Amino acid sequence: MKNVLHDLARIVQTVAQADQPIDQVNLIVQSISATMAVDVCSLYLVNAEQEMELLASQGLAAGAVRRVRLPRGEGLVGLVASTRHPVNIADAALHPAHYYVPETEEERFRSFCGLPLVHGGTVIGVLVVQCCEPRLLTTQEQGFLVTLAAHLALLLVNSPLVAAAPEGMSNRVTGVKGAPGIGIGHIRLCHQGELYAVADVPCGDIPGALTDWHLLLQTVKADLEREKADLGSELAGSVGGIYTAYQMLLEDPAFVRYVETGITQGNWLPGALRKATQHFADVFLAMDDPYLRARHEDIHHLGNKLYNAWRGAKPTVLADDTPVVLVGPQVNVSEISAVPAGQLVGIVCFAGSSLSHTAVLANALGVPAVMGTGTIRKLQDGAQIIVDGNHGQVLLQPGPTVVAEYQRLVDERRSRTRRLEGIRDLPAATTDGAAVTLYANTGLLADISPGLHNGAQGIGLYRTEIPFMVYDSFPSEEDQMYVYQQVLEAYRGRPVCMRTLDIGGDKPLPYFPVENEENPALGWRGIRFTLDNSALLMTQVRAMIRAAGDTDQLRILLPMISCTGELDDFRELLSDALQQLQGEGYAVRRPELGVMVEVPAAISQIPFWGEKVDFLSIGSNDLSQYLLALDRNNPRVAARYDHVHPAVLLEIKRILALASQQGIPVSLCGEMASDPVAVVLLLGLGLRTLSTSATKIPQIKWLIRSIALAQAQRLTDQALGCTYPAAIRDLIRAELEQAGLRELFS
Ligand code: PEP
Ligand code: MG
Repeated sequence: MKNVLHDLARIVQTVAQADQPIDQVNLIVQSISATMAVDVCSLYLVNAEQEMELLASQGLAAGAVRRVRLPRGEGLVGLVASTRHPVNIADAALHPAHYYVPETEEERFRSFCGLPLVHGGTVIGVLVVQCCEPRLLTTQEQGFLVTLAAHLALLLVNSPLVAAAPEGMSNRVTGVKGAPGIGIGHIRLCHQGELYAVADVPCGDIPGALTDWHLLLQTVKADLEREKADLGSELAGSVGGIYTAYQMLLEDPAFVRYVETGITQGNWLPGALRKATQHFADVFLAMDDPYLRARHEDIHHLGNKLYNAWRGAKPTVLADDTPVVLVGPQVNVSEISAVPAGQLVGIVCFAGSSLSHTAVLANALGVPAVMGTGTIRKLQDGAQIIVDGNHGQVLLQPGPTVVAEYQRLVDERRSRTRRLEGIRDLPAATTDGAAVTLYANTGLLADISPGLHNGAQGIGLYRTEIPFMVYDSFPSEEDQMYVYQQVLEAYRGRPVCMRTLDIGGDKPLPYFPVENEENPALGWRGIRFTLDNSALLMTQVRAMIRAAGDTDQLRILLPMISCTGELDDFRELLSDALQQLQGEGYAVRRPELGVMVEVPAAISQIPFWGEKVDFLSIGSNDLSQYLLALDRNNPRVAARYDHVHPAVLLEIKRILALASQQGIPVSLCGEMASDPVAVVLLLGLGLRTLSTSATKIPQIKWLIRSIALAQAQRLTDQALGCTYPAAIRDLIRAELEQAGLRELFS
């Protein structure tokens, strides 16, 4: 062990590359015992019965592997697991916790050092090394094993060999949330890799292959057009940009030429296509910007689509109406549109993130999706699977109890939705008469109908960056006006609050990477970005004002304002835009102007805004992120992020008090507005306008109509005396459950 870092990297890489889970665990024990020159290295992992099962060993009797199962807490291995601490002893047999297992034939080995493998606070296994002579491992050796154990826990957590979770959850794979909802269906594997299996073959007819290449491009372009049309006009309008991105790649002269050159140099068409696809995918993959990096998936999709069209492969037709979950390294839009509407109940991608086009499309289609699970092995076409897009997890081969439990959730949601339709046109008022206005949050045109269908009284937050994200360059004033007009038209007579472009941070734009930011959440985002690129902002504001014409529907909302100067600059730009448009002969009307209160610094500026703004909207997602210093998208800290933290509640109370002194109305448009516990607190604090995702409106209305304002105020007073967010949740949840609102939490 001369070069510890090098040894560590080598072991982790070797293990990560193993194909089968069992090879993985064998490689772990073999490489550790070789590197550390110990006599035994064994790996125990928690099995479905919550025992420590010996899964691999270099040194113990081969017959013991997969047979020895130590009950929880038993022996030295149990001690390591229960204390979550390394146990390093020179003579194991003398230790009071020692537990002799004859099948292992371990009596020859005297020393014992065990390390816990912990992931997300849960022990998933124990790594043990043993030597014949009675000796303690050195601190350097122990340090090496502790570091290795941390890496191995990350690698092994999604292995089918691990079952750290309680009974019935033995095949849980975690990823990131792609689109919400629960889907129970059968796996349909999407094999993306065929193109990469293609070998280079000398081309027999170069001119013929060049002609084929151009014909192929035309065929696939036409296929894409057809798939886009199959989506229906509403969806095609909102996610059509994804298809445009594909089509632009197909027309990209550099891509087309790369394949031509390959053919001219003597490679057959599939070989030249494979090289071009790999080359362009690598170019995107090397980009710093996460959105642009995610575009390498589009290149893979396209390369495979071209290859499949070349070999005349048709998508498999589903024989029956079984609910389908598409699963694969990546799932492309063509595979999605090949499944008949209503039959697709889930999507699982080994790679990708919430920024992948697959996730954007899944959201638009209302199909639950989980992204970035890492490779899931041993998947079988047709096997049952549950996709839990609400928690970013997938359950493989779920037992009947688990399926029944999830089916109950799905059914409950369905019947609740039907029941809630009955209150769609009734006011959102508490039992003692306090009226609440419920708006919808949206960003995709596909969200428009659900909002209206669920009784939204207007749009409280239109996230304009979403239409910007599905384009391939900044949309023109006319392009934007077209999209905004459709939103305003659909909500005719009701307010529509359009937020100016809020890119940066977790919302990068494909065609405008903001590079080299150490800390993007604190960087060039929201109003800071748009004021610095005021030509873009002017175009957007002009498009919004033109789209609204002389109606009084439009409200403009500014994201990430942290000082009054930014507000002043925008007001100047707004006046300018109005003047320009009037000068150009348009009938225009000054929109109401609002500020998102989401940067804590904005709160102390409210006293100066009485004459400057018409309304405030609390962005509780960012406000919580910045107050708690917790990245809202980082799964490692997700469990700590809770917007009912007393610090957040007290700041909201302060915002309401300051705004009321200035006579400025306040609404809230973050995730708090869709969390029942938070909604009780918001009512108690004094909020009367909430904006939430369209699908959440019915249940929030049900909640509001089921409680009294006085009750919400009493609970809020009690909550403000609590120290822990969990205590606040328990307090309110218990009372809501008692009031017959248990279903809100299922
Ligand atoms: C917020 O920050 O609460 C908000 C609504 O804006 P976004 O989630 O788009 O940042
Ligand atoms: Mg925000």
